[in-house]
Amino acid sequence: MLSVNEAEKIILSLVRSLDSNQDTETINLAAANGRILAQAVTGKLDFPHWDNSAMDGYAVSYKDVQNCNATNPIILNVVTEIAAGDRPETKIEPGQAARIFTGAMLPEGADTIIIQENTQREGNRVTIFSAPEPEEFVRHQGSFYQAGTPLLEAGITIGAAEIAVLATAQCSQLLVYCRPRVAILSTGDELVTPEQPLQPGQLVDSNQYALASLVTNNGGIPLKLGIVRDRPEELKEAINQAIKTANMVLSTGGVSVGDYDYINRILVELGGTIHIRSVAVKPGKPLTVATFDNNCLYFGIPGNPVSALVSCWRFVQPALKKLSGQQNYLPRLVNAITRHDLKAGGKRETYLWGQLHLVDGQYEFALAGGSHSSGNLINLAQTNGLAIIPVDQKLINGGKEVKVMLLN
Ligand code: AMP
Ligand code: MG
Repeated sequence: MLSVNEAEKIILSLVRSLDSNQDTETINLAAANGRILAQAVTGKLDFPHWDNSAMDGYAVSYKDVQNCNATNPIILNVVTEIAAGDRPETKIEPGQAARIFTGAMLPEGADTIIIQENTQREGNRVTIFSAPEPEEFVRHQGSFYQAGTPLLEAGITIGAAEIAVLATAQCSQLLVYCRPRVAILSTGDELVTPEQPLQPGQLVDSNQYALASLVTNNGGIPLKLGIVRDRPEELKEAINQAIKTANMVLSTGGVSVGDYDYINRILVELGGTIHIRSVAVKPGKPLTVATFDNNCLYFGIPGNPVSALVSCWRFVQPALKKLSGQQNYLPRLVNAITRHDLKAGGKRETYLWGQLHLVDGQYEFALAGGSHSSGNLINLAQTNGLAIIPVDQKLINGGKEVKVMLLN
């Protein structure tokens, strides 16, 4: 059986790299949150756009004030007032100053700002009591960014800060990677939707909703294809449709060794190449990964809701990030002190779910209460970390260090 790391490598190698000519779309800045830049952005505007004042005070010529001090103050004539947004009309001549406010553009003839705390104003005259540094409190045009130089690089995720930068540069249209279309289908005769009345023996299809949420959170577009019965012909038809319409397919159920587990056989019948059939991981041992000629990547995920989510967190998420255009994403691991004993079988890399807390700069891991059965999804709620027990280890005692995979 493949180790978790071997499986991860194979999966990432199967994700086709995106083509920045083909797999991209142009969008408006307002729709850019969470998208991934497909092309480096170069701005056409210097930032600051103009020399402007960093403080409220007076704009002066340094030459006029360089020698003043408390015993030898300098008096200047205030000839104009410039607020943020004003276009200065008056040139500052020797012996003159402009009243100026934070963010306002510097007038011609001025090169230095005297903060108002160091002045005294009477009528249209201002007295200056201490010499500033040359060009003090001036934010020079282009001092933070020069037009025509690289602003943002390709492959980064756009969030609040990047949106601010792009807005400032007046980049209102962006080339981003298309979001991958991810088909999700749940297989099983026992499944009903959350809206359907439950008959004895039935089970609500929670996977469809959980996986759709995970896909959205990782930059994909979930295509919820619903529940498919355990009938080979119906399954084959549904899977065939999914492969044709999506970049990635996630099906849950039907990949273990039960009498109704048809997925692998169908994938081969449809021309797929199966690269992985199982991984030495708990939960989530039966995991099918296949590819098709049209580059569609297929994940056949076990049906147990916990196995399904852990498989997705561990294996689907990195693949989805790569397919979305995000560079070099790998699960984030941190060292934590476990508050509880962590037990495992020793044969497979074991993932135990719970909560990570940051206490005085040290991560602590609290195992979720209740049963750690792969069928119990109830105590998965609020999970933000998966503690990893390596192969050949059966116990990590409370108080000892454990590697934890961060979720979110
Ligand atoms: P399977 O992998 O098809 O053998 O399913 C394993 C277990 O997971 C069974 O107990 C199923 O009832 C349950 N299961 C399968 N699919 C889902 C689903 N979509 N949502 C919730 N539980 C499921
Ligand atoms: Mg099933």
